[in-house]
Amino acid sequence: MPAFYLATLGCAKNIVDSAGARLAFLAQGWEETLHPKEADLLIVNTCGFITQAKEESIETMLELSAQRKPGAHLVMAGCFAERNAAELRAALPEADAFIGIHFAEALAKNPFAKGIHPAQTYHPVFGASAEAEPGAAWLKLSDGCDNGCSYCAIPMIRGAFRARAHTAITEEARLLAAKGIRELNLIAQDSARYADPNDPSYTLPRLLDDLEEIDGIRWIRILYLHPASLREDLIERMLVGGKVLPYFDIPVQALVDATLRRMRRRVNYAHIRALVTHIRSQNPDAILRTTLITGYPGETSVDHRETLQKMRELAFDKLGCFIYSREEGTDAAREAGQVSQRTKAGRYDAIMRLQQGISAERLKRFVGQTLEVLVSETKPSLSGRSYQDSPDVDGMISFTKTARQSAVRAGDMVQVRITASGAYDLSGELV
Ligand code: SF4
Repeated sequence: MPAFYLATLGCAKNIVDSAGARLAFLAQGWEETLHPKEADLLIVNTCGFITQAKEESIETMLELSAQRKPGAHLVMAGCFAERNAAELRAALPEADAFIGIHFAEALAKNPFAKGIHPAQTYHPVFGASAEAEPGAAWLKLSDGCDNGCSYCAIPMIRGAFRARAHTAITEEARLLAAKGIRELNLIAQDSARYADPNDPSYTLPRLLDDLEEIDGIRWIRILYLHPASLREDLIERMLVGGKVLPYFDIPVQALVDATLRRMRRRVNYAHIRALVTHIRSQNPDAILRTTLITGYPGETSVDHRETLQKMRELAFDKLGCFIYSREEGTDAAREAGQVSQRTKAGRYDAIMRLQQGISAERLKRFVGQTLEVLVSETKPSLSGRSYQDSPDVDGMISFTKTARQSAVRAGDMVQVRITASGAYDLSGELV
């Protein structure tokens, strides 16, 4: 039986693509190996989001090329290969083929074909999910994006927005529940825009109602809510709660109006502030997460100070920051006023330092509360996440239990009384 080795780089969406590819390969009679030296086919599912990710993609290709056995084929797949195949072909003679994001379709049946053009369609019925952590999965709603943010290369790589049929999503969620998944993390480039391609009136609030009906699923978390797509009916549905967590992941990317405009984000600061105020007024325990990009072309030191002041005003519970990366082919890359690497790094540090204090302050309110926790690790100590922590990007809760309390396994849901809070994490004891 031929064996494949699959390395995955990049975000949750790539991990989901790799999980789908893995199923396609296994269905075609391949065996997976975790040892590059044993593989007949080595695939690197790359990320081309920022320069650092591209470098990592090339390094991984070179490392695998050095390790492969004679005759084994090495393929670069994923976003970076989709977009830059022509230049990469000259720069990386080690690779046997460059295939884009639909590499599973191209490779599972015809492993050594070269130069296959990636399929233009996106209709995965299954295999658009992956386990994120014990008991938790990512589940894809759609792919591609039409927003055209000035700095972003994703629409060039992943194409226009295409949603999956709701029946495919709910059926896959049922399969995940049957496999023991308790938490669904719904992902897309623009989740709030979801509508069934066969019935545009079937939007995300209805999908949430249907997912909520599935036995075994306890938490539904929605990630990547573009502030311009986040409509009132969805906010209201999320605030109703039930299995839908009051976790609002709203990547705003900037807080200064001039920058938001140049980024083409379609919202201004007043809109962002109104969203935050409304959500908090309806549910003070709602978690608000966002991301910022620092060092966007033309960002001045005054803009940076204004960003810090607005961060204090909004006090997001969670905030991640990207250093602006000049992406070839984007409008922002051509803008005047590119900010030096040193300045960008200094601004990034200031943002993260400030957020550390805000996060610590926001977490204090949980001390004394009892939270439901999905256990992710039992060794060397017990830890997990509550509704306020996404897999991969947020904090965790470490907890203790007495010898008299029953055993805890990864993937269990337990109650933990919070006894202390830190900058990003909480700790407590099993109830
Ligand atoms: S919404 Fe996200 S994926 Fe779409 S263009 Fe903007 S940054 Fe890129």
